[in-house]
Amino acid sequence: MDDRYDVVVVGGGAAGLAGAVALARARRTVLVVDAGEPRNAPADGVHNYLGREGTPPAELVAAGRDEVTGYGGQIVAGRVDAVDRDGADFVVTVDGGRTVRARRLLVTTGLADELPEVPGVAERWGRDVLHCPYCHGWEVRDRRIGVLATGPLAAHQARMWRQWSPHVLLLLHDTDAPDADEAERLAARGISVVPGPVADLEVADDTLTGVRLASGEVVALDALVVATRMTARSALLESLGLTPVDVEMSGHVVGRQVPADASGATAVPGVWVAGNVADVSAQVIRAAGAGMMAGAAINADLVEEDTRDAVAEHRRQREAMFTEAAWEERYQARPAVWSGRPNPQLVAEAAELTPGRALDVGSGEGADAVWLAERGWRVTAVDIATTALARAAEHAKAAGGQVAERVEWTHADLLRWSPAEATYDLVSAQFMHLPPQPRRALFARLADAVAPGGRLLIVGHHPWDLRTTAHRMHYPEMMYTAEQVAAQLDPARFEVLVAQARPRAAVDPDGRDVVVHDAVLLARRR
Ligand SMILES: Cc1cc2nc3c(=O)[nH]c(=O)nc-3n(C[C@H](O)[C@H](O)[C@H](O)COP(=O)(O)OP(=O)(O)OC[C@H]3O[C@@H](n4cnc5c(N)ncnc54)[C@H](O)[C@@H]3O)c2cc1C
Repeated sequence: MDDRYDVVVVGGGAAGLAGAVALARARRTVLVVDAGEPRNAPADGVHNYLGREGTPPAELVAAGRDEVTGYGGQIVAGRVDAVDRDGADFVVTVDGGRTVRARRLLVTTGLADELPEVPGVAERWGRDVLHCPYCHGWEVRDRRIGVLATGPLAAHQARMWRQWSPHVLLLLHDTDAPDADEAERLAARGISVVPGPVADLEVADDTLTGVRLASGEVVALDALVVATRMTARSALLESLGLTPVDVEMSGHVVGRQVPADASGATAVPGVWVAGNVADVSAQVIRAAGAGMMAGAAINADLVEEDTRDAVAEHRRQREAMFTEAAWEERYQARPAVWSGRPNPQLVAEAAELTPGRALDVGSGEGADAVWLAERGWRVTAVDIATTALARAAEHAKAAGGQVAERVEWTHADLLRWSPAEATYDLVSAQFMHLPPQPRRALFARLADAVAPGGRLLIVGHHPWDLRTTAHRMHYPEMMYTAEQVAAQLDPARFEVLVAQARPRAAVDPDGRDVVVHDAVLLARRR
């Protein structure tokens, strides 16, 4: 068990496992804790489960468990005996000791069938003591079926089972005789009514042969049908403040279940329910469907929470992004942040220019400034991070010759710094990505810094790059096209020489080849 999961599923029957499969396939971390007592365990096969008709219950559960673990979900055997809130998390206690945290809970603990207190009934439950014609009716078709009356719905139950066999008896046990209308309906369907309490079951060779009435009379039968009171296993949910409600059938209470909406969401935020705990009439396929639905709803809820968290982090990063402290932290975390090679668009556009005075803004570890100085340019290189400037100066020194003397390293925050006007023969800004308003202001100051006849080179990551798998900060408003930059320039002062999206081969973080685009603006001051 890990310490924390996206979802802990309590109960690993059809509902819990189907929910866990949906969650694991949605790439959520999920733990199923299961006490291993599914309601239909005594039955030979699961019926009315499309595609798996008649599969033994344990086999279906085993297949479901394989599916959960096959997608990375985890399953542990154990009983959850407490669930507590701790901040936004739930703390789930397993077997009185181990605890595990969860962002969401899916409770699928099923229900308890409360059986009539007739000797022998509990022992034969699910084998030849039956409750549900859809689960067992076909298997006992045309056999002798006794319906043990324990409440006012018994006559209705007897008429229902009559669909599967012409040999149905209604054993009144300790209930009242049907009224005249009901008696007529039963007679019309050939259902005999047997008065007197049932005292015991008759069994031979581990097979039901009949029931013995208190009078001593034995009624021969092949199956005994009982009505159970179906009580949701809701203790954990009650500890979270959820109260089960009565379930009525034809005006009579047949059980209790925990209320939830169609997706299984309860009134307690973060807690979902599915299967018999929330719907006492759910068969296996419906329990599985409800589990799947709850799993999807939980994932959707987590997606919303993840998005809220991401927005907060995105805003925090955007606020911190342009501070000196953030850049210092970035440079100090690694011995080299950049490749050490000059930017390709600078090389493409400046290699043939006659050296003069250059301004390189956001000079980083100095690769562009050193490259320019090596070609004879006198460079003013500006950066916000002293660590980067110190590294750049080292690179300039290592380049030898007069390179170091030709570069003036300047520590400044470009959001506030203004270069000397009409001074530089080349002003280069490589990948300066700022919010629109300060970006436009900076580019205007850079344009002012270009000497008559000099060039302004602005290169950025093109917005198209956000459609690729290339690593890019996802701040669309900070991306720009060359055309957008060109539109800012006064045509009376600048002649645009290049304004294009220039393709460049790159490799994404997963090692895939991708084509990215540089927005390249080159303009000459008239
Ligand atoms: C005899 C019988 C035969 C049936 N035959 C059929 C049939 O043929 N076809 C059909 O569609 N339906 C049949 N059903 C109905 C079927 O059993 C239910 O529809 C189904 O089991 C509901 O699934 P579930 O996941 O809600 O609950 P369950 O299958 O009961 O699973 C609940 C799980 O939660 C576990 N659990 C409970 N509390 C805790 C806890 N605190 N911590 C950890 N784990 C816990 C239990 O041990 C259990 O493993 C039959 C029912 C019975 C009684």
